Amino acid sequence: MKLYDMHVHTRGISKCSRLSAEELCAALKEDGTDGFCLTNHYAARHVDLPFHDWLCKYRDEFYKTKEIAAGYGLGALFGIEVTDPERRDFLLYGVTPDCLFEEERPLWEFPLPELHAFAARHGALLFHAHPYRFNGVPADAADIDGIEINCHPLYLTSHEEDVRRYAEAHHLLLSCGSDYHGDIYKAHCGVWLPDDIQDATQLPAFFKKGQPALLVHTIDPERARATVIH
Ligand SMILES: [Zn+2]
Ligand SMILES: [Zn+2]
Repeated sequence: MKLYDMHVHTRGISKCSRLSAEELCAALKEDGTDGFCLTNHYAARHVDLPFHDWLCKYRDEFYKTKEIAAGYGLGALFGIEVTDPERRDFLLYGVTPDCLFEEERPLWEFPLPELHAFAARHGALLFHAHPYRFNGVPADAADIDGIEINCHPLYLTSHEEDVRRYAEAHHLLLSCGSDYHGDIYKAHCGVWLPDDIQDATQLPAFFKKGQPALLVHTIDPERARATVIH
């Protein structure tokens, strides 16, 4: 099995990230992670080109990062972190870069049930990212397939217990990632995926076979406060 960090950002698309694709891959290699799902932000505030051109840039950022990852011996899967009209964030696992171009409207305009339907049309899974962050609450379980244990040290807690309880109560899947932006130490965490995983479109079938094992990072708030990079 291989450890994949299922939530990371590069600055080529995510304006809040300090990491080039090269820096992201170097950090993942350094901490012994085997691969990652690149989940750059898909939200209006990150769009800095005419929309279609930005979508091309979003797609190309993935292919560029994947190529660099290969040089490090890391697996790279395509993912998307969409901000919904209520400003909550959701991770799409199982979509391809081509699906970016299929809709008339930007995905951030989709109310959550429509975003869920979009995922289902593509055979993909929709996970609520950091559901308890900033006193948030998880989305209606009918509108998501899973929920994330987000180990970004900046949030000082992953709310692991709460997330697990909600997932269990509503029969939701669990994912785990560092949400690494290069603004603090990198949490070593993720989901254990089969050795032969090549492509994000294989993720839904694997998750549906049964909850994959997770590696959750326990955040030390002291260490987090001491390592914030201003
Ligand atoms: Zn961000
Ligand atoms: Zn994120």
